[in-house]
Amino acid sequence: MTQSKSISSNSSNSSKSAHSKPMIRTRFAPSPTGDLHVGGARTALFSYLTARHAQGEFILRVEDTDQQRSTESSVQAILDGMKWLDLNYDEGPFFQTQRFERYREVAQELIKNNQAYYCNCSKERLDQVREAQMEAHEKPRYDHHCRELNLEKDLDPDSNQVIRFKNPLEGQVSWKDLVKGEIKFSNQELDDMVIWRSDDSPTYNFTVVVDDVDMGITHVVRGDDHVNNTPRQINIFKALDKPCPVFAHLSMILGEDGKKMSKRHGATSVMEYRNLGYLPEALLNYLVRLGWSHGDQEIFSREELVKLFNLKAVNHSAAAFNTQKLNWVNQHYLKQAGLNLKNFEQIKPELIYHFNKAGISESDLNQGPDLQEVLKILSERVHTLCEFISFSKYFYQDFEVKDLDPVAVNKFLKPDSTPVLKLALEKLKNLSDLSGVSGWTLESIQKMIQDIAQELNIGLGKIGMPLRVVLTGGSQSPAIEDTIRLIGQERVIKRLNNYLK
Ligand code: GLU
Repeated sequence: MTQSKSISSNSSNSSKSAHSKPMIRTRFAPSPTGDLHVGGARTALFSYLTARHAQGEFILRVEDTDQQRSTESSVQAILDGMKWLDLNYDEGPFFQTQRFERYREVAQELIKNNQAYYCNCSKERLDQVREAQMEAHEKPRYDHHCRELNLEKDLDPDSNQVIRFKNPLEGQVSWKDLVKGEIKFSNQELDDMVIWRSDDSPTYNFTVVVDDVDMGITHVVRGDDHVNNTPRQINIFKALDKPCPVFAHLSMILGEDGKKMSKRHGATSVMEYRNLGYLPEALLNYLVRLGWSHGDQEIFSREELVKLFNLKAVNHSAAAFNTQKLNWVNQHYLKQAGLNLKNFEQIKPELIYHFNKAGISESDLNQGPDLQEVLKILSERVHTLCEFISFSKYFYQDFEVKDLDPVAVNKFLKPDSTPVLKLALEKLKNLSDLSGVSGWTLESIQKMIQDIAQELNIGLGKIGMPLRVVLTGGSQSPAIEDTIRLIGQERVIKRLNNYLK
């Protein structure tokens, strides 16, 4: 697995700000068992913003202890997703598989302090206990058989011995969740959970606490599927005599039908959204609004998010994913990029990525019209980069007459279009010589179209559509004069010549 970096902060609250308040440290702790899901990305974003808002630190920790389900490619998918979204972390990625010795040390410390114990119960015994409990309509749980036996470590490598945490038998565990409010569990509901398995590996609820302590995490932001784990983890923090972080459990993201978002609903992973043509800033802007709000503002720059984000303003009810709204947000960013050079420069690498994927190289782009201008005239019609590419290909890539859209050809290229196209070719060749207007400009192209209308005594529709089909390959494009101007004189003449041949 990828090499982790070392942990710089070794105990909670060790880093202090100028006002000597504990520095806020948050983490994103994905398990590498699949791609980075949009729900995970939102968790990462909220965790990142919590840290950035407070000028704190954000840490990436890969929870790869489930060695059967964790894969190297998922680790890479998570790192790629974080990078694409530009959720930069100050420390990490740390890998739990590289910290086993540390977990072992802490487990031994708990045993020494009588807060954990070896348990030798066989699977058969545990099954019997469970069955009896079920028959008696009791909640199945460990019956504390080995809790006070003070068993020694079993040195037999095939032993089924585990280490269990001594959960308090009485009282309650409660915390004030920043999103969900006060949450309480009775200790009687909690098991003496296994913290070390018989295969010599630590369990999730234990490693999380050791890491959160060692990494000085002050705020745990995660999905609400972990609410049931939190009281168990709080009890371990207490046993270790370490302060508990603040918890914020985020409600899950639902699909458009109100059910848990899954593959059935279409794209779920961040990189799938990339391939569908969404911009990282648009996806983040969309995700931040799934649960968080600031008045009725919809569009936020990164700086605004960092300034305004607050976990306390996160809604506790589940939010549904709405592709139409995501499209709207994405289009907003495309329009902005069409209008503003700084915004354009920001999205340009992503545009180039999609053009390349569609077989259009950077040098093709450099030989065609200014990309920002093309974006500007097309952004009203497109929601995604993929749509943009398919609507703008003809500006950068030539095609043959046989590739013209047959439906458009049938409808708009009638025998009477030929004189129109011939005349257009003549005029466009000599455009720079037209009296009164000079050069390849919008005005001169407009005038050329009006002149054709007058000379052949026909309506503008009979001129625009045939030209559009021959010049763009289809029947959809921005205003014909804009289209002609941007395609450029050389290509326009070549395409008309090819067709008229
Ligand atoms: N690794 C856990 C998960 O991917 C997250 C644990 C946590 O954030 O505490 O669901």
